[in-house]
Amino acid sequence: MRAAIISIGDELMLGQTIDTNAAWLSAELAARGIVTIEHRTIGDDRAALGETVRRLASKVDLLILTGGLGPTADDLTREALADALTPGQALVRDAAAVAQLERWFSTHGSGMPKSNLKQADHPQGTQLLANPHGTALGIAGRLGACQVFALPGPPAEMMPMLLEQVLPALERPASSDVVLTEAVHAYGLGESAGAERLGSLMDRGREPLVGTTVSESILTARIVARGPQASARRELDRTIAVVKQKWHPYVFGCANGSLASAVGELLRAGGRTLTTAESCTGGLLGKMIVDVAGSSDYYLGGWVTYTNELKQSCLAVPEAVLTEHGAVSEPTARAMAEGALQASGADYSLAITGIAGPDGETPDKRLGTVFIGLGQVIEGNVRVAVRQFAFPGDRWAVRDRSAKSALQMLRFTLLGVLDDTHLLWAVHP
Ligand code: ATP
Repeated sequence: MRAAIISIGDELMLGQTIDTNAAWLSAELAARGIVTIEHRTIGDDRAALGETVRRLASKVDLLILTGGLGPTADDLTREALADALTPGQALVRDAAAVAQLERWFSTHGSGMPKSNLKQADHPQGTQLLANPHGTALGIAGRLGACQVFALPGPPAEMMPMLLEQVLPALERPASSDVVLTEAVHAYGLGESAGAERLGSLMDRGREPLVGTTVSESILTARIVARGPQASARRELDRTIAVVKQKWHPYVFGCANGSLASAVGELLRAGGRTLTTAESCTGGLLGKMIVDVAGSSDYYLGGWVTYTNELKQSCLAVPEAVLTEHGAVSEPTARAMAEGALQASGADYSLAITGIAGPDGETPDKRLGTVFIGLGQVIEGNVRVAVRQFAFPGDRWAVRDRSAKSALQMLRFTLLGVLDDTHLLWAVHP
């Protein structure tokens, strides 16, 4: 079964709204073996929309439109659909839908504006689809052999309408084949090194298909398996396991998993606690940790010590260390990690000091120079390992990479991976 999706609205064409509807719809359809062959985005243009509906309906079995079902003059989906499905015929008004809209407004504490009456209109021969979450009713119709559905733009209204009303109404059974996808995420491994490790797993035409992407320094293997449900699932799981093994120890999770949540799970499992001492990241590391629900189980809190004075007063970094080596140095990162452990009583500490730029570069300390200290208490003794990094990128990228590298260093330690295991952009050790 083949589908096409039309996303409607000037705000999409102007870049004010990102088209997440088409992505979500395609994934939902793919999971049911329905292959989407075309995505179109169209502004609030009745003629262009009507023409596109006609053209796509002649190519696919299922056509889904989202947006343009509101009450205002720029909401033209109903009219364009009528142009394509019932040329020359006027829209019809559904009395039951008018009553339903009136009920919706009175439940939500106001009378119905006249303009909303328009939302009870639909092309002749089509059916309205109820919308329990808003006033934009959906429309179900057909053009030749193609089933056509117009759904509201807001994702919270569109998603339940697809799941509860569109999918059960499909006339042609979806193929028994499905398309299953998974994303495996790694940090600290470059894209080419990652691809080399995967080798023939990345061959085009392979089943399941494996591709890599990098976003915000996270290397992701995207795996796509097609075929009957059971064998696609089996092959997908098999490939996930191979990718994890080839990218060990850099893989921290799948799907929506984050590096901070992977670290959090390890800390929780071991009953261990963490503290942070940040300079150039200004709290970004703490934010990543606290973004994970339940982080209070293991995160005690931390310090943002931007100035030398605060490094001394909060973390007991000796003045001599700062004057002799500078704030961005291995001894300062070490002293920050030690001071944070001592002041907090945590089992582990992460300390970050570096030059995020664009100012602050010196001949021997280039922009992107960052020292990350990892402190831990082992049988009552404090042990600190410091790694030096040379991060490329602008201020934001350096800070983001610093926080993520710190988390990956801790993850390695919690897993018993050697301290000097290669990490992207580490220059020492
Ligand atoms: P409503 O009556 O709620 O306005 P509608 O069908 O007219 O329903 P639109 O006015 O086209 O919907 O869009 C309303 C909002 O829905 C947009 O401002 C945007 O936030 C969201 N939206 C619309 N289309 C998309 C899309 N393709 N992807 C993500 N969000 C979208």
